Amino acid sequence: MDAVLSIRNLVTEFRTPDGMLRAVDGIDLELRPGETLGLVGESGSGKSVTMMSALGLLPARNTVVSGEVLLDGRDLLRLPKRQLQRVRGRDVGVVFQDPMTSLNPVRTIGWQIGEAIWTHDPKVSRRAARGRVVDLLRLVGVPSPQTRVDQYPHEFSGGMRQRVMIAIAIANQPKVLIADEPTTALDVTIQAQVLDVLEAAKQETGAATILITHDLGIVAQYVDRAAVMYSGRIVEQAPLERLFREPHHPYTVGLLASVPRVEARAEHLVPIPGQPPTLSARPPGCAFHPRCPLASSRERCRIEAPDLLEIDDGHLARCHFSAEVAGYVHTIEGELG
Ligand code: SF4
Ligand code: MG
Repeated sequence: MDAVLSIRNLVTEFRTPDGMLRAVDGIDLELRPGETLGLVGESGSGKSVTMMSALGLLPARNTVVSGEVLLDGRDLLRLPKRQLQRVRGRDVGVVFQDPMTSLNPVRTIGWQIGEAIWTHDPKVSRRAARGRVVDLLRLVGVPSPQTRVDQYPHEFSGGMRQRVMIAIAIANQPKVLIADEPTTALDVTIQAQVLDVLEAAKQETGAATILITHDLGIVAQYVDRAAVMYSGRIVEQAPLERLFREPHHPYTVGLLASVPRVEARAEHLVPIPGQPPTLSARPPGCAFHPRCPLASSRERCRIEAPDLLEIDDGHLARCHFSAEVAGYVHTIEGELG
């Protein structure tokens, strides 16, 4: 099946006083019709920068982005600014971590969702737009939408504001929905509700979805396929079942070891000893080697950067010793007893 969105060899570099720093280092991703693709990794792995780059949301003055981002045959990286703005909000809906920074405090909720509609469909009357806004609020589970439509963001709870952001994101029936840590700023108790609303919104619009998260519990519940990022690169990519059952990268194994059971919800990634590298101090060879339990006896890990190779249909891993990782998974299970 043809991809809805194709990201090819995406590279993002930041201009800094210390020179160019590479935050995203050759990402290839295909989003297929109807699927939810998880983009997973610790904070600083480049997940958000990948999506911000693809959508032209980073300040051009100190960022250099190259590669291709194809949507309907158009390369978003080469679209004029105004056309790109039109694509965002019409063809691509985006939900960010903190709804308060995305909502305008002095406009009503109804006006803001309505704006998303009439910006892309100027012929729609205010009256018709209001009807659609109320329908959208109902769809995302905001109670009493007829009343709430005239209220301001501060009159909404964090969870309700995020529902509003989802309503804005799907207001124009986008082909692609991108949610970047959509529940990280919310209370644990309402995270699942908001993710269920996101899932319902996805079903309603049929949008192919990219869900960016550091939380493997969320991945387990909401994602069809996942790409794991480390230090600006994809280190493993697979359908969900395979990723959880047969991880072929030691980093993925470490992440999974922090989730006792697939059904369990992990609050934070980890405990993999150590920290991800900073952009200015990326280790030579495999960027994961200072933290990798397999690397100590293997010179090659410190010298040669591994390529992302196909292990099986749709399953890719970036590790010189991926074939040995299955044995390592057994060891971990043995230790857990
Ligand atoms: Fe670990 Fe070496 Fe594989 Fe990198 S290439 S993940 S350091 S075993
Ligand atoms: Mg992020």
